[in-house]
Amino acid sequence: MNTDVELENSTGSESPAKRHEFLWLKDGNVVLGTNVYLFKVHKSVLSMHSSVFRDMFELPTEEDLDMGSSDIGAVGMAPELYEGVHFVSLSDDGREMEHILRAVYERGYYDPHSDEGTLEKFTALLRLSCKYDFSVIRKDVLGHLSRLYPTYLEDYDNAAKAYLEIFGNPRSICHLPLLKAAAEAGIDDHFPSLYYASSGSRVIPILNIFLKSPSHYPTMHRLIDGQQSLGKAIQDLMGAFIMLTERCICVHMNQYHPDIFDGEEIPEVFCTHNLVGLSSESLFSKKFPLRACNLCKESFSRRIEEEREAIWEAIPSFYRFNKTWDEIRAELPTQ
Ligand SMILES: [Zn+2]
Repeated sequence: MNTDVELENSTGSESPAKRHEFLWLKDGNVVLGTNVYLFKVHKSVLSMHSSVFRDMFELPTEEDLDMGSSDIGAVGMAPELYEGVHFVSLSDDGREMEHILRAVYERGYYDPHSDEGTLEKFTALLRLSCKYDFSVIRKDVLGHLSRLYPTYLEDYDNAAKAYLEIFGNPRSICHLPLLKAAAEAGIDDHFPSLYYASSGSRVIPILNIFLKSPSHYPTMHRLIDGQQSLGKAIQDLMGAFIMLTERCICVHMNQYHPDIFDGEEIPEVFCTHNLVGLSSESLFSKKFPLRACNLCKESFSRRIEEEREAIWEAIPSFYRFNKTWDEIRAELPTQ
């Protein structure tokens, strides 16, 4: 049986969409049309999970309307039938819609404690759970993102070391697509750490991802602006490090050690937007163990950690968030 049908989308052009293999439920009472798939599902189930679908299904249907007053098309809704079943045309990508509907119908399809799903699946759930207010999925997705991009520096350091690979990719290449999806979902305002993480990207990948649509320009401007402020703050941290350690070398180390100066690459170590590599442990134990005497090491470490914390505290302001970390934490769902 050929199940392909021609579906007229909201722009009036023709595109083939076929019945979804298993999200075509015999007793479903609404057909959702997308560019790729048709889904036959239940109004009651969608209404239970999503306030937007609930409101949509509470709108008068074709039968309720007087002839000629068909202007009810919220969220692409068309007052029409498909094989006798209420039909709703959606502008969303069918593959993305498949992810959110499976998360609704299949227990365990999305586990916010696992990072093993694909990036495409996660960003689809992020976008559509926010767009349609699938409140439980939205809460899970935001909690998941908060676990990967924490709001405290110590937690962020630990997350960066623990989650080297997420959604089947090296963590570093997920930052920009996640930031883009968060901005599209309208929840980037809860995630300064996602802007911070994305600041390690070079300018061409940033332009490639955000220049395609003017709607992304504000996110791009915020990111580039914050990247520069963060870079300046890290230069200041480098200045403090050099000042402290040079004085120690001159005053406390009465014998010249060639290793102290030779082969050190201070500008290279500080040429970063990543505070993890600038922890006192990393600087004084791993990268520059000879630049502080044992007497000074402890106080220098404290000073560097204070400087790092001060930079972290300023991160929301670098990226034009008009709120503090505490205010941002209060808005996020607790896990
Ligand atoms: Zn010293």
